[in-house]
Amino acid sequence: MNKFDVIVIGAGHAGTEASCASARMGAKTLLLTLDVDSIGRMSCNPAIGGVGKGQLVKEIDALGGVMAKAADACAIQFRVLNSSKGMAVQSSRAQVDMRKYERHIRGLLRRQKNLKIREGEAKGLIIEEGRVSGVNTGDGNLYAECVVVCPGTFLDGLIHIGLRHFSGGRINERASIGLADSLKKAGFSLLRFKTGTCPRLDKNSIDFSSLARQDGDIVPRPFSFSTVKPRLKQIPCHITYTNKKTHGIIRSNLDRSPLYSGKIKATGVRYCPSIEDKIVKFGDKERHQIFLEPEGLGVKDIYPNGISTSLPEDVQLKLLASIPGLEKSRVIRFGYGIEHAVVEPRQVFPSLETKLVRNLFLAGQINGTTGYEEAAAQGLVAGINAALRVRGKDPLILDRSSSYIGVLIDDLTTKGTLEPYRMFTSRVEYRLILREDNADLRLSKTGFDLGLLPSNAYRKVKKKQEGVKNGLLFLRATRISPGKKVNAVLNCAKSALLKNPVTLEELLRRPQIGIKDLRAMRELKKGISESAWQQIETEIKYSGFIQRQLKDVERFKNLEKIKIPDNFDYSRLSGISSEIREKLARFKPLNLGQASRISGVTPAAISLLMVYVARPKPASARYQH
Ligand SMILES: Cc1cc2nc3c(=O)[nH]c(=O)nc-3n(C[C@H](O)[C@H](O)[C@H](O)COP(=O)(O)OP(=O)(O)OC[C@H]3O[C@@H](n4cnc5c(N)ncnc54)[C@H](O)[C@@H]3O)c2cc1C
Repeated sequence: MNKFDVIVIGAGHAGTEASCASARMGAKTLLLTLDVDSIGRMSCNPAIGGVGKGQLVKEIDALGGVMAKAADACAIQFRVLNSSKGMAVQSSRAQVDMRKYERHIRGLLRRQKNLKIREGEAKGLIIEEGRVSGVNTGDGNLYAECVVVCPGTFLDGLIHIGLRHFSGGRINERASIGLADSLKKAGFSLLRFKTGTCPRLDKNSIDFSSLARQDGDIVPRPFSFSTVKPRLKQIPCHITYTNKKTHGIIRSNLDRSPLYSGKIKATGVRYCPSIEDKIVKFGDKERHQIFLEPEGLGVKDIYPNGISTSLPEDVQLKLLASIPGLEKSRVIRFGYGIEHAVVEPRQVFPSLETKLVRNLFLAGQINGTTGYEEAAAQGLVAGINAALRVRGKDPLILDRSSSYIGVLIDDLTTKGTLEPYRMFTSRVEYRLILREDNADLRLSKTGFDLGLLPSNAYRKVKKKQEGVKNGLLFLRATRISPGKKVNAVLNCAKSALLKNPVTLEELLRRPQIGIKDLRAMRELKKGISESAWQQIETEIKYSGFIQRQLKDVERFKNLEKIKIPDNFDYSRLSGISSEIREKLARFKPLNLGQASRISGVTPAAISLLMVYVARPKPASARYQH
């Protein structure tokens, strides 16, 4: 009998992280996927990271996942977004060579101990007495203790180009139908979401001469805390714009758009609208920006980021011809829209195990998210928790105060989502504490303890931690007196000159002064890494705000600490509306904090619940955990 500890279905960004984590934690893992040549494929844009997403990638790295290192190895342009704003909202993004990325991930998984890869389709789940025990592939059964399902946009996928539509998971790849039926049969309620992609253009047919060029950062900042510098040649993007003529073409063909003719009923991505959506919703805008992003080094495919569309081919050709630089562009592949099934994510615990079927985990697009990073983050958590379940250990639950990953999963599992969910810094209440630069300090111990983060990487983090502590002590204890050299640096930085001695910490609090200025005034303590100094600078500059957020976190944790037993009987709660009682019973919050975030659950209901949960029960009525 084919028996594994963990079977992971799907080898997109969720499935690759899940299978790798589970195998690295020692679970005998099978990765089952429709096409082994498409492992790690980037379905849409050739980039990793972005606002709110860069943080996810850094956290994946800190926990010992694969996305950050793979992106660094294949990146052809790094940029820090929001670099002129505060550290809390800065996010890394990299253009990535898509084909190299796929090869990198495939190679990594093939070399992974405890991991078997098999091409095939999961046509159904084997569920017995509320517990998953394997997968049916149509030509046989595969058995496992836990199953992680990551089928992405393939789950009952339907592709639209103009008024034509056909079944598919991505263009030229078949959809996964049986699996969606199996989930429905098991009692899951499914929704339908929609996303889309733009046409791909031949680089040699684009006239770049009149277009603005956009280079990456002069000093690239890689994703992984272990990467020293990029491996590949760094190349630019170019920028062009739509115009009145483009908008006119789109408007006069809206009746041929599957979106506006009513063919697509599913909900689309609010923050990544198609070009036809932009023209309709932002009718007063005279132009929309398009980034011409190369899909790799030495490849001719250009991804015109900003004109995702599912309009018919002839309209796509016309609108491209109206755009400066693209007048004579040749289309390699036309844009298309895709609608697919997702599981309403409140049917999943924060461990990503489903509430309906024990040992069954869901990760990625299937939980209603959009984006590679969101998928990878969930895949990592689901893979970890499947392996922990096999070992009989408690699950890893990342809360909102620990990470962006915690916020992502808490939002999905507590509030649910009625449209494709993508990560943003604005979703994160403790974002001054949850920065990119300290993801390693926040999460590496967890990654190391799980057996995912190698000991050399963890040693480096501990050294940084030590450096931050020593550097802070040094800046607090070291006073500097007014003098020619000091005042020359202050003058140059347009900061008030010194009249009396001050500590270096006090100087660093000034908005105009950075570590580099202190260094120009006097020698700083040796043996502290540059990343530790950067950390110190941020902590000192934002210390007031950080202290306030730490207090908020303390308050938040107090509610999170009060657990609600598994089989708590909500019908005992008198004094609250039946709507709230029914919601609590349906969503089974794990603790009072989570209960308080369910929409419609009032503070009064939480106070009452607190009394019931904290009240000692007679032995006969004690709840099981
Ligand atoms: C056309 C298109 C446009 C997109 N546009 C955007 C965008 O603009 N912005 C954005 O952030 N994201 C976009 N995305 C979404 C992004 O690609 C996904 O969010 C991300 O890839 C999801 O990762 P995943 O691992 O959940 O699934 P996927 O990357 O879709 O991978 C799914 C994997 O599961 C396998 N599989 C599926 N069913 C089965 C089965 N039954 N048995 C075995 N294997 C199976 C597939 O072969 C594949 O390997 C787009 C996707 C598509 C297709």
